[in-house]
Amino acid sequence: MRRHRNVKIVATLGPASGSKEMIRALFEAGADVFRLNMSHGSHDDHRARHAEIREIEAETGRPIAILADLQGPKLRVGQFGSGPQELAVGDRFRFDLDSAPGDTRRVQLPHPEIFEALTEGSELLVNDGKIRLRVDRCGHDFADCTVTVAGTISDRKGVNVPDVVLPLAALSAKDRDDLEFACELGVDWLALSFVQRPEDVEEAIALAQGRAAVLSKIEKPAAVRAFDQILAVSDGIMVARGDLGVELPVHSVPPIQKRLVRLCRAAAKPVIVATQMLESMIESPMPTRAEVSDVANAIYEGADAVMLSAESAAGSYPVEAVTTMDSVARSVEADPNYRTIIEASRVAKLHSVADAIVTAAREIVETTDVAAICAFSQSGKTVSLVARERPRVPVIALSPLEPVLRRMTLTWGTHCVVTPRLHRFKEAVVNGTRAARDFGFADETRQVVVMAGVPFNVPGTTNILRIAPCDERLIYATDPE
Ligand code: PGA
Ligand code: MN
Repeated sequence: MRRHRNVKIVATLGPASGSKEMIRALFEAGADVFRLNMSHGSHDDHRARHAEIREIEAETGRPIAILADLQGPKLRVGQFGSGPQELAVGDRFRFDLDSAPGDTRRVQLPHPEIFEALTEGSELLVNDGKIRLRVDRCGHDFADCTVTVAGTISDRKGVNVPDVVLPLAALSAKDRDDLEFACELGVDWLALSFVQRPEDVEEAIALAQGRAAVLSKIEKPAAVRAFDQILAVSDGIMVARGDLGVELPVHSVPPIQKRLVRLCRAAAKPVIVATQMLESMIESPMPTRAEVSDVANAIYEGADAVMLSAESAAGSYPVEAVTTMDSVARSVEADPNYRTIIEASRVAKLHSVADAIVTAAREIVETTDVAAICAFSQSGKTVSLVARERPRVPVIALSPLEPVLRRMTLTWGTHCVVTPRLHRFKEAVVNGTRAARDFGFADETRQVVVMAGVPFNVPGTTNILRIAPCDERLIYATDPE
């Protein structure tokens, strides 16, 4: 089983995709990575989904990444006494720490830190930014506001405070609990919501202790400003356009997306473009033209992955949504313009031997008729460097370490294959060419590039590149030890 595209598809699981049959259908339609959203569902639910994915992995023999998305310091108002309340422009409204039920004039905002950080003139956004309020007066336990954009406020609605760096711990008590649970379970990636500073990421990395890779969701203006430092300490990035488009004007999101995708590629770290990609498919089997165009543009930009949220978690057409992404990806990647764009945005970076070898591999692929690049990797680093080159042929990532391969399924262009532990380079050639044949990347008449580090089983040693025939008899007849 192989994919016929480079970009990866992340599908969020939820009530619409809770059964093993549905997860399997999503995988077969093209989902490479499954996202468990810790904001919803119980630990028992997530444990069951995790087990089902691992069963599908065992049945299909294909590594699958599981991404646990931590809720983060999401601010919410308290409860109302008599249902939803209409707020009109010009209305006065108070947020405070009082847990008494809210009414037309006030509601609880149970986050004392927020009141410390607010100043006169700060803006509060409620319910996905639909309602806007300006702070007129505030103290350590209240904020008196004027409504500037009207709307309906109701129980537990989310609150965004875009223009202040909030003195909030990046990980709430719930997040720490969820993080430990997810790591124990054996997820491959953790996503951190509302990251504001590089220290937030470092804290999660320390808690994960290498059990999972850590991806930062960029959804706060502060994270956009500190992006270089956040990228430097993260294993991957999500352009979380949902909250980003609430905290910043929506029109500022596309340029940010383009910039972040480029910087991630330059850093050889995977980047996911997320949220509302096929939003109308929550209710319709057909996407809009604009949505198809949005998915296509993320692929033209060179994103590693595109993501489905409610489309696969709570919509009526989860499989159709994955199929749509797969079709769009295949159509874009077959366009000669796509190649031109991807190659024009390559960043030349030659520092290490590994950098030089991956550049050589890509050039060999451009100048000869080689069918695939087989990259052996202990840490995944070499594979990320190969993927950064966005080569014209598939990248077969090989490693004896299944957890490393699972993480790499998020990376552009990789087809991940578990191998036995290797001791000699010839074994790498045999295993690499076999994977190329078995998964339909090459027949016996073709050649592939094989890259590996010798001695084996030491991370960061990539130092050999060989152009190998896929015919096993020729390997044994011609290959050096
Ligand atoms: P969420 O994150 O779906 O967890 O809110 C993604 C986003 O904000 O875009
Ligand atoms: Mn979000």
